[in-house]
Amino acid sequence: MIKDFKKIWGDHMKLHEYQAKGIFKDYGIMVPNGKVISSPDEAERVLSELKGPPWVLKVQIHAGGRGKAGGVRIVKSEAELKETAKEMFSRPLVTSQTGPEGKKIHQILVEEAVDIEKEFYLGITIDREAERPVLIFSPSGGMEIEEVAAKDPSLIWKEHIDPAVGWLPFQARNIAYRLGPLLRTDLFKKFVSLLNTLCRIFFEKDCSLVEINPLVITKQGSIIALDAKMDIDDNSLFRHRDLKELDDPKEKDPLELKAHEYNLNYIRLDGDIGVMVNGAGLAMATMDLIKMAGAEPANFLDVGGGASEEMIKRGFEIILEDPKVKAILINIFGGILRCDVLARGLIKAAKGVEIKVPLIIRLEGTNVDQGRELLKESGLEFLIARDMKEAARLVAKQVKES
Ligand code: GDP
Ligand code: MN
Repeated sequence: MIKDFKKIWGDHMKLHEYQAKGIFKDYGIMVPNGKVISSPDEAERVLSELKGPPWVLKVQIHAGGRGKAGGVRIVKSEAELKETAKEMFSRPLVTSQTGPEGKKIHQILVEEAVDIEKEFYLGITIDREAERPVLIFSPSGGMEIEEVAAKDPSLIWKEHIDPAVGWLPFQARNIAYRLGPLLRTDLFKKFVSLLNTLCRIFFEKDCSLVEINPLVITKQGSIIALDAKMDIDDNSLFRHRDLKELDDPKEKDPLELKAHEYNLNYIRLDGDIGVMVNGAGLAMATMDLIKMAGAEPANFLDVGGGASEEMIKRGFEIILEDPKVKAILINIFGGILRCDVLARGLIKAAKGVEIKVPLIIRLEGTNVDQGRELLKESGLEFLIARDMKEAARLVAKQVKES
């Protein structure tokens, strides 16, 4: 339940790697020279502006694990670059974080390749248990930080940041000294300054996460952010117009986008029970009951207290469009949203489509008799549940039998 809770209430706007690197550059953090292309034909054009070969091609998607999945490729000639770009654009990339359907490639970052001497991990995020931001560093970079933590927790170094005083420079030196001989003296200052700068970015841009994995020391003795990840806390976007413009709707779930258009609070989850509820609290309670009945919700959908017939119709359509959904539970407590309005919205949505999955409805509150009557007369097939618990049990039973 906690996992869903975070998904529903902790919303973040993700930036692409090239966008985050643009911000790093503005703050003076070194990143490889690079150009973004949106089609294979553009590859040739950007080469005149980049040193090389070799170059690195990196697909720009809102998911990590690209390296292992073939989404980061080093090429050694112009011909290889064109060939590889064409191949990368031609199909979705599936990584450990995308889900089996993968992500369509709209953009590729072409960069000058870097000679890596050492790879580190560096990130700042919120430690919910400690109730404060934490900077995390690991001398073992390049691989996923969860993996490092599982294998050898002594390789994860943390500096918590007191929100009252902010990041203090001695904290950067703590980590630099701990690295010891891994840092040559000329690199010490650069390293400390990079840590301080990344903290400034985290606070000034209202990040919920900023991550450089790997942070590398090159054979030539520079410190470079080879990768960049940045999530912005949605609640702060009102004061970051420039960041808001970096939002890429192509990366969003199409059903979530549609829901957003109609002012519906809809979030897709991993289960198979479509849920429509009015009120966020009732929605959370309904999801809990579904889980207690041994099933998993396919979505969170709060149509809101005063939903119109049109919103109900759109919400129901979105649930019906999700191919994962094997049964639907509608749990409405009619207050401002009257039960007859709900019934009309459902009937309208059902008109255009064939509903192939069982539908369970629990209706209570204002105009409940009218609502039930409308539904009965409509010819729509559904089961009525007397209360929430029965509704959850019924819907769980339906998916188990299907
Ligand atoms: P991720 O797998 O999605 O996190 O993508 P990264 O940007 O972290 O790239 C994955 C790996 O590719 C890195 O850990 C590096 O080892 C390698 N890589 C990326 N860019 C370069 C480069 O310029 N030179 C070299 N030698 N390796 C690179
Ligand atoms: Mn990475």
